[in-house]
Amino acid sequence: AITLPVATDWLNRLAARYATERDWLVELDSAIGDGDHGANLARGFAAVRDKLQAAPPADVAALFRLVGMTLISTVGGASGPLYGTLFLEAGKKAAGAASLDVAGWRACLEAGVAGIRARGKAEAGEKTMLDALLPAVAALDGTALPAALLASAAAATHGSDATIPLIARKGRASYLGERSVGHRDPGAASSVMLLDELAQAAA
Ligand code: ADP
Ligand code: MG
Ligand code: MG
Repeated sequence: AITLPVATDWLNRLAARYATERDWLVELDSAIGDGDHGANLARGFAAVRDKLQAAPPADVAALFRLVGMTLISTVGGASGPLYGTLFLEAGKKAAGAASLDVAGWRACLEAGVAGIRARGKAEAGEKTMLDALLPAVAALDGTALPAALLASAAAATHGSDATIPLIARKGRASYLGERSVGHRDPGAASSVMLLDELAQAAA
């Protein structure tokens, strides 16, 4: 189950992962955006790691809320408010739960992704993080948590790969129109990392 220690481990792993992958995410965003995606996430999740250490939250819901508020306040750019919304909405669904099983996490991720859709007004196929996140929600099935999380992360990877031939319709990349074709969406790539680290933390 996703307990408080598992969720804490997940966020600490993410801070390390985004620090490691910063340059690749910057490279992806330089091709079709303004090149700051890796720096945005490295900064935001380092701030999350520091806050978790300074004031450990009491439960999973409080942890998700802290992550959401920290991302919104420390990450400039589209991804901060969008990932922030994901965690804030997930925190509402996790309220009162000591831990999350597959169904509980699915409710959190579903609500988080719905929040991203409402905030960013994007749909599937517009070359955004949603192209990784929507298949990840759909793939969350069954009752065995580690297997469900691995399947979810694998679906996100396929979704991220599938952004390469798409024309960007939302965010800065949409300014490029047809010239965005042939490049992976940076937000889809960072969403894969998010889900992949959760699968590893819960394994
Ligand atoms: P910015 O574009 O402001 O520099 P980032 O580089 O941090 O912000 O994030 C860019 C990513 O945000 C894109 O790759 C895309 O996945 C995602 N994104 C941008 N706009 C939207 C939107 N309206 N809906 C969903 N995702 C979006
Ligand atoms: Mg950018
Ligand atoms: Mg920017």
